[in-house]
Amino acid sequence: MAKKQFKTESRKMLDMMINSVYTNKEIFLRELISNASDAIDKRYFRSLTDSSLGLPREEYAITIAVDKDARTITVTDNGCGMTDKDLEQNLGTIAHSDSGEFKSDNKNDNISIIGQFGVGFYSAFMVSSRIVVTTRAIGSDVAYIWESEGVDGYTITETEKDSFGTEIVMYLKEDAENETYSEFMDAYRIQGLIKKYSDYIRYPIRMDVETSRPVEGKEGEDSTPEYETVVENRTLNSMVPIWHRKASDVSEEEYADFYKAHFYDTQSPLRTIHARMEGSVEYEMLLFVPANAPYDYYSKDYVKGIQLYSDGVMIMEKCSDLLPDYFNFVRGVVDSSDLTLNISRETLQQNYQVKTIAKSIEKKIKSELLKMQKEDREKYESFFKAFGAQLKYGVYSDYGTHKDVLQDLLVFRSTSSDRYITLKEYVEAMPESQKSIYYAFADTPELAAQLPRTQAVVDKGYDVLLLCDDIDEFALGAINIYSEKGFKNVTAGDLDLSTDEEKDALKQANEECTDMFTAMQEALDGKVKAVRFSSSLGEHPVSLSSEGYISAEMARILSKMPGNEMFANAEMALEINMNHKLSDTLKKLFAEDKDKLALYTKILYAQARQISGLEIENPVELSNLICQLMTD
Ligand code: ADP
Ligand code: MG
Repeated sequence: MAKKQFKTESRKMLDMMINSVYTNKEIFLRELISNASDAIDKRYFRSLTDSSLGLPREEYAITIAVDKDARTITVTDNGCGMTDKDLEQNLGTIAHSDSGEFKSDNKNDNISIIGQFGVGFYSAFMVSSRIVVTTRAIGSDVAYIWESEGVDGYTITETEKDSFGTEIVMYLKEDAENETYSEFMDAYRIQGLIKKYSDYIRYPIRMDVETSRPVEGKEGEDSTPEYETVVENRTLNSMVPIWHRKASDVSEEEYADFYKAHFYDTQSPLRTIHARMEGSVEYEMLLFVPANAPYDYYSKDYVKGIQLYSDGVMIMEKCSDLLPDYFNFVRGVVDSSDLTLNISRETLQQNYQVKTIAKSIEKKIKSELLKMQKEDREKYESFFKAFGAQLKYGVYSDYGTHKDVLQDLLVFRSTSSDRYITLKEYVEAMPESQKSIYYAFADTPELAAQLPRTQAVVDKGYDVLLLCDDIDEFALGAINIYSEKGFKNVTAGDLDLSTDEEKDALKQANEECTDMFTAMQEALDGKVKAVRFSSSLGEHPVSLSSEGYISAEMARILSKMPGNEMFANAEMALEINMNHKLSDTLKKLFAEDKDKLALYTKILYAQARQISGLEIENPVELSNLICQLMTD
């Protein structure tokens, strides 16, 4: 029988498993049991519409058997089984499995991926040198044997099997100096693994366990009982899904263990939400806010969703209709006996119950996040670092439709403290005289704090939000008005900070120098809309200020997107600090040396761009200009 080759991705994955230095090899049992449980779910499901395929409910089971002489562990289920095509597709390829595609060639990356994801069937190769799968699909007369020793391929042959379901025999690897595989044949070890990873599996996981018990009626002469070894068929799991238990009966640690095993995370969740909801639809929810974004979170491969159960039977692995995009990081389980089992994916979307549950989940997540924000700001900050960008996109997307849900979940750095603050806290701390919510944008909060115009606002006694995510300004734009206050970018137009006298003085100074400013603007070849004095630059000599709705920073971000080149030059003004010595220098040059004024203007413009986080358009020219200045 010719060997078939694994698909490339699968081979990589297999290779990784076989040569794995990953220490957590024990998870292989969890993977096989979870597959067995899925398979029984599928059979049960099918039997709802075709009762000839089903079994009496209490007969569904997963069995584990150990043969120490043959060095094998066997996992058997009476689930849906597989046809030869299924075997090809499911065990010959990995691409469609939950584990996603394994693109990385870096061994270390791969190892952390093992930790993060369900690695599935192939994980059995971490402990086995050979695997034999015998399976018969429901409704089929033929059974098949799939057999493989790893990377060099697999064979599929026909066979016979009495009943539907799958049997997987793992031939354990030989023990090596620093790796023991025999331990997995130990009954206590297996019982421990099942308690740890698979306790909530709804079908009994059975195993024959040897125990000794006193022989009845046979007491020795000194009345010590005689013992005999008997084999007991035990159910190793408690079968109660953790979400069916009362929240007060479940410890933090149990939640964390469940979360890590069920959602393949190496870290405990930041927050657990466990509630029984009553009302028009009754259901249990067990939701988790992860501590970190999974590695593919910001890629298009990431799929949001909540596991949907109907009375303990999983009907969907990722029900995306239950989660709004902005809370797509939440993982968890929803279980409702009100949902009919044989509901199809299409009808699910329009399903009244699903809509109701989705609404209450959204509410619950929001209120729990607000609670965390209030009770433990440090924890909330770490949450926000991981998922804040998603919330900001949420505010901005759909034309700001969701801003009411999300705006109070946002937190920002500001000039007033090292901590993050909410918009509500900002507004509550505003002095009477302050009309707008000020913000500054730069690559880092520190740089934003140093912007000339930030300083001017701070000097006035106002707090400034320090933004550095591309999405920030767009999100604020979508909020538009918060608590009756508008938002003002410190670099945009008139900050309206000065007194009437100051305003008059500025106006006069500007009027006196219109000719000079025209000359300077000409020197810049129309790159700026205007050149003028400003009285709100604090100690700083120059700055750029934007003239229109689009700030310099928004322009920078927009211009990076294809088709948006027209934004590359937002309408900007070059501002000279009226109170800086520089203004006198410029006036003198305008009177005495117009060429030099042009030279100075170009250099000042480049400086102002750089301070605003914009690129210098022509660094070579700038360097030449500065040299010219030095050698004059
Ligand atoms: P996943 O469970 O994430 O889909 P696995 O690698 O664990 O990935 O399994 C791959 C596929 O093989 C499963 O989706 C399922 O279709 C099939 N499979 C694995 N084990 C069994 C089993 N015991 N019975 C029926 N099908 C199975
Ligand atoms: Mg699996």
